[in-house]
Amino acid sequence: RVFAPVQVADLRALAVGKLPPNELETLPAELARNDGVLFEAPDPLPEFPGADALIAAVRDAGLRGLGGALFPTWRKLEAVRSAAGAKYVVVNGDESEPGNFKDRWLMEHNPRLVWAGAALAARAVGARTVYFYVRGEYPAALERVEAARTALEGEGYFEGLATHTFRGGGLYVCGEESALLESLEGRRAEPRLKPPYPAESGLFGRPTLVNNVETLAHLAWIAAHGAEAYRERRPKLFSISGDVDRPGVYELALGTPLAEALEAAGGRPDELQAVLMGGAAGTFLRLPDAAELPLDFEAPKLSGDAVGPGALVAFGADRDLWAVAEGIAAFFAHESCGKCFPCSLGTPHLHAAVARRERGPQLEELFLALEQGSLCGLGQAAPWAVRSLIRRFGGVRT
Ligand code: NAD
Repeated sequence: RVFAPVQVADLRALAVGKLPPNELETLPAELARNDGVLFEAPDPLPEFPGADALIAAVRDAGLRGLGGALFPTWRKLEAVRSAAGAKYVVVNGDESEPGNFKDRWLMEHNPRLVWAGAALAARAVGARTVYFYVRGEYPAALERVEAARTALEGEGYFEGLATHTFRGGGLYVCGEESALLESLEGRRAEPRLKPPYPAESGLFGRPTLVNNVETLAHLAWIAAHGAEAYRERRPKLFSISGDVDRPGVYELALGTPLAEALEAAGGRPDELQAVLMGGAAGTFLRLPDAAELPLDFEAPKLSGDAVGPGALVAFGADRDLWAVAEGIAAFFAHESCGKCFPCSLGTPHLHAAVARRERGPQLEELFLALEQGSLCGLGQAAPWAVRSLIRRFGGVRT
């Protein structure tokens, strides 16, 4: 395996105002830049309105999984609720995607809102145990999530629920829900074959609701303010970074055009050449072509062009996008867990090909092998950034 830490660090360095996020002890609270409703916990925290009412509100609000896959949240709630016997709720706080730091901000600065969402979701599905899995490299988030848990327990908010904070294993793949469950069970974080989905067979083989930090924050807000108020705002957190003047976490209405989002963060879209949307497992968008692209769930999905978890990393005209893509490919080769061959063999090949600046049609086979053969999202998404770079910037070398 070839690993180029400097290049990976370059991408991470771009992500939070030039500072590698892992080297920041905490994210400054001021990194939340605008007046988002998700930046403060409702006081008092919402009471449980009953399972029917809560799931209906989540459905009417149109909430989707904000870890990036955008699966309708109410369907997952309903699936776990309808299962019999012991079940669990797991908060996925293993935000590992370079370029994303909105979950980290929530865990460090608004963990009460996330815990409230987790407790409400647990009551809705009939689970009595909640695990909050925090990324291993987010020590401050872990501390604050645990402090919030203790405080809420003292306030009686968790009555009837057992709650636990768990330190993640420190690998990118730990954020993949089934690998996360393996890790929670004390094993090496390797993804399971899906289906069955965790909603059916999850932690210790029991039905488990696994939801991302931001999704649960939204769920709590919906419980406090109702589906209608939520639909009026359509809030979504975006981690905006790279070549913009005010990198940070922005709450924007879904549907905001890309250029407007960049401008909100002090970016000048006409001076930028590209945006990496989603993070390393995202795609390069070309500017100005994509300036009017609405940042919405229904954005065109060609090559995985989706809002995903909501990262926007901006690149000025002088950035070498191929060097960035090489860093991304190195990142995937390094983080591949080794369980399935398409990913464990394909990601180092991809890295080598990008290092050689290959961009011919023969790469398509490798892209397909990764995308269609890999067991989990890590390998499946590994070629997206490179493929989008070739399609939109590279041309084909003959
Ligand atoms: P997925 O589409 O396979 O699943 C999404 C969610 O829906 C999962 O919780 C899954 O269990 C559930 N689900 C799907 N079908 C279901 C069904 N029929 N019944 C019940 N539940 C069902 O996607 P995934 O592999 O979980 O996630 C991929 C996404 O992760 C990518 O889109 C990427 O954006 C994102 N990602 C995020 C980060 C980050 O740090 N936030 C890192 C890497 C990847």
